[in-house]
Amino acid sequence: MPCATCGRPQTDPVKGSSPWARGVVGGRQILLCAQCQESDPDWVGRLDRCPQCGSTRLSVVMGSAVCRACGFDWPVEDLER
Ligand SMILES: [Zn+2]
Ligand SMILES: [Zn+2]
Repeated sequence: MPCATCGRPQTDPVKGSSPWARGVVGGRQILLCAQCQESDPDWVGRLDRCPQCGSTRLSVVMGSAVCRACGFDWPVEDLER
């Protein structure tokens, strides 16, 4: 999955954790590269949030968003269709 903002392809770090950020926007999983996170510090504010705990640590699986913080899940619309 490329960067949602600049389209740069994701690169795997040689070691350590990836600088790429994951999030969900409009019910779709996105990735943001380190450069775009830096040039747009407000990117976190555009992410979808868990309706239960407000966390942005979400995953989208089979049409549902799942909060990785509290485990709450809810249906999301697939805007690709
Ligand atoms: Zn980028
Ligand atoms: Zn939650």
